[in-house]
Amino acid sequence: MVSPEKPSNPAEIASKTLKSLVAQKLAPTPENYARVYAEVSGKPLQDPATKHAPDAASPVPARPALAWAGLIRDLLRQLEANHKGITLSRKKDGLDTVLVKFAANPEVLYEKLHGLLRSWAGAGTPTPAAAPAASHATEAVTGAKEPELGVSFSSPLLPAGGGGVVGQEMMKDLQELLAQTLESNKALEPGMAEEITTLVQQVRTVKEHEQVTDLAKKLRHFWVKLELRGGDKAKIQEGLVRLLRLLVENVGELVADDKWLHGQIAMLQDIIAQPMDKRSIADAERSLRDALIKQSTLKKSLADAKSTLKSLMTTFIDRMGELTESTGEYHAKIENYTQKIGQADNLTELGHILEDIMQDTRVIQASALRSREELITARRQADEAEDRIRQLEQELEQVSELVREDQLTGTLNRRGLDEMLERESMRADRSHAPVSMALIDIDNFKLFNDLLGHQAGDQALMHVSEVVKNALRPTDYVARYGGEEFLLILPGTALNEAHEIVGRLQRLLAKNLFVYNHEELVITFSGGVAVRAEGEPTEDVIARADRAMYHAKASGKNRVVKAE
Ligand code: GH3
Ligand code: MG
Ligand code: MG
Repeated sequence: MVSPEKPSNPAEIASKTLKSLVAQKLAPTPENYARVYAEVSGKPLQDPATKHAPDAASPVPARPALAWAGLIRDLLRQLEANHKGITLSRKKDGLDTVLVKFAANPEVLYEKLHGLLRSWAGAGTPTPAAAPAASHATEAVTGAKEPELGVSFSSPLLPAGGGGVVGQEMMKDLQELLAQTLESNKALEPGMAEEITTLVQQVRTVKEHEQVTDLAKKLRHFWVKLELRGGDKAKIQEGLVRLLRLLVENVGELVADDKWLHGQIAMLQDIIAQPMDKRSIADAERSLRDALIKQSTLKKSLADAKSTLKSLMTTFIDRMGELTESTGEYHAKIENYTQKIGQADNLTELGHILEDIMQDTRVIQASALRSREELITARRQADEAEDRIRQLEQELEQVSELVREDQLTGTLNRRGLDEMLERESMRADRSHAPVSMALIDIDNFKLFNDLLGHQAGDQALMHVSEVVKNALRPTDYVARYGGEEFLLILPGTALNEAHEIVGRLQRLLAKNLFVYNHEELVITFSGGVAVRAEGEPTEDVIARADRAMYHAKASGKNRVVKAE
């Protein structure tokens, strides 16, 4: 419970606030923190939005507990990481100063702690093969340089250093809060309850530096797992539902053409069969949407062209009918005239008959001429309509082909890959030729995205696929196998040769730098190569290449390993 006498020192208030949160088993949300802080200090609650937001008209949204959990995780992680020129005790001092100085306002505290993290990162983190060196200078460094409010401490969560009592207690309280935050996840993820219990126990008892390092590693894994189970899963489901809705809405359009329906459904089945991530679903959704839009326009034009042809055919048949009718009539008349001529016994009568014949012949001639002209026009129009239909059908076919390609990189997608593998393995079995397969996976690509943004990541993927496609033979294939994984199919290529080819690709990529924002970046990948034994199912070959690729990753990345 909150003690009756009101402390005035901010450090003391902060410490008591944390204690009170722990005692009341309250989640360390900014709102709870602010409320308890006000109770402890005896000062009325201030609205952080109006007090600290740069623009009072746009209040700062309350930060969810997850954001704090992420921040605490990052702090733990960065505290144990090596940063050039910053010792652990300097980090502790900085942390201590920020915690004490800004304890009164959780929003500002959050920002300052972030600033502190950035300042550590700015001092130099290990640079990945695909990443430029980051350099940020931040205001939080200034915070760390103000010693007058700083309280150094040693805590069970931190290796021994200074010994401030307030700091020590505060860290104990933070430790307890971390434990409680973890425990609050049990209700959300019952499947992870056991893991959470073990972690909570460790958080409460950890003392030595080595234990902290180990705990930080476990926490990191735990949070990644949690993010995957929580955020991504929801987004994947949301994406899938949208995709399904799109398909269902368009089924009416599609059933008119069986081939199309099969294509789209097969693509959806492919996606569901693979391990899903939200990008592959978004890609599929985009390509399906493009295809559907194009398809419905084409189908409309196709229907128009077909109905033109139909009406032309009707005219054609009608005119034909007229023609045969009139010629039939003419023949009947001629026959009649023949009879009349036969029966005529005077010249005047014959003259009349001849006049009638002439008249009828002129009529039939005019009608025949008219029909002939109309038929020629109709025939020309029919030819044009037929051409147009052929052209439209070809375009439709091409749109259908698009669904076999990955939209971003233009390499084969899973559907295109499956079809090609079936074809190529049958061909290989017929000709008793080897087929090699290589699985390549870009190194440290997550970090690349994190540092340069997703758009840069997308462009890097295009760059890699371009370099790879251009370097291979026309008979080879490249498919996007996963987010940043490509599968290369090299027909007629034995294992050693394939190993050499993929090694050459690595050197090519090292030479063809990826340029982003005027910066040149080296992209590397790790690869696994396997050769298909005659009759071996392709998925087994890919699995072997995949295992070899993991060996390449495990043995230091940026290398190619042959599968047994
Ligand atoms: P490793 O060297 O072990 O392969 O590490 P990694 O970071 O490359 O591997 P990880 O599998 O952890 O991360 C792959 C990342 O690739 C995660 C995801 O953000 C990113 N990614 C996947 N697909 C795409 C995409 O289409 N565009 C972008 N920009 N990023 C993608
Ligand atoms: Mg990968
Ligand atoms: Mg990777």
